[in-house]
Amino acid sequence: MIDPFGRMVSYLRVSVTDRCDFRCTYCMAENMTFLPKKDLLTLEELERLCRAFIAKGVKKIRLTGGEPLVRKNIMHLVRALGERVKSGELEELTLTTNGSQLARFAGELAEAGVRRINVSLDTLDADKFRQITRWGELARVMEGIDAALAAGLKIKINAVALKGFNDAEIPAMIRWAHARGMDFTVIETMPMGEIDEDRTDQYLPLSELRAALERQFTLSDIPYRTGGPARYVEVQETGGRLGFITPMTHNFCESCNRVRLTCTGTLYMCLGQNDAADLRAALRASGDDAHLSAAIDEAISRKPKGHDFVIDRTRNRPAVARHMSVTGG
Ligand code: SAM
Repeated sequence: MIDPFGRMVSYLRVSVTDRCDFRCTYCMAENMTFLPKKDLLTLEELERLCRAFIAKGVKKIRLTGGEPLVRKNIMHLVRALGERVKSGELEELTLTTNGSQLARFAGELAEAGVRRINVSLDTLDADKFRQITRWGELARVMEGIDAALAAGLKIKINAVALKGFNDAEIPAMIRWAHARGMDFTVIETMPMGEIDEDRTDQYLPLSELRAALERQFTLSDIPYRTGGPARYVEVQETGGRLGFITPMTHNFCESCNRVRLTCTGTLYMCLGQNDAADLRAALRASGDDAHLSAAIDEAISRKPKGHDFVIDRTRNRPAVARHMSVTGG
């Protein structure tokens, strides 16, 4: 699949549910209205959609959400897609999780063919963790991380950089992650969906964070890539990798290889734009995949050049109305 700007699309992110057991303040409002369960694609339908994308050249699939591990019977889909990894059709099956259910699922994920996961974690302080997630319990996430490491999964910790909340803690988090053999990535907060707080207050440009980190760490740019948008440095003092995801200060749209499928079968060709394609209709129109394949081609032909997120006092509105939990991270 090649888009109008010559970019090859080989990476599909699938939000398997918009529901989550946390309510991170920068991600969701406390009182969210979720999709009625009847609107969700079944796991079999999601699998069929994934297979159609694999047939068209997708090599990497990331399951996300909402919280992917709270979708009922999610391991059914993980195992089915894991078979595609084992057969070599798919290079990687991975997921992004808040870690709350990992203690239960880590072993099964590894058995199913998952090798790497991203765990989102914004602080190592239990009180601050409760504050930012509203509902989360740090100890459970830590148990989950331990279980995932014990199961042999490679972990990347993702932290959203939030001014005045975790910026001072990031160096300690880097040391903690690297001491446990985990990569660590920081992310700029994006203006997606209405939340209860002011994003302008939270937004921390990573150029500022990097300059602060360079006062205590020696950072060297490295060409390491995982197929996602992070740009990596090696931290000399820890020997570990540190990633920067900078949708605001430096967008990475020119190398975008991704599209995003929601749990209702809507395909978003860009995280930061509203244009989308309804693949559910194509999926349900016929049992053979020709119709679906044509709908995917048509969607890819509309992949936009990029997003134009801005956070400042004059434009303090979400750039897109949907929350991150609809399309996933
Ligand atoms: N529940 C899973 C998790 O916590 O990783 C997967 C979904 S969550 C929406 C994916 C990632 O998006 C998390 O790392 C979260 O911190 C990040 N995220 C949510 N809202 C964001 C925003 N407005 N800007 C930047 N990152 C955001």
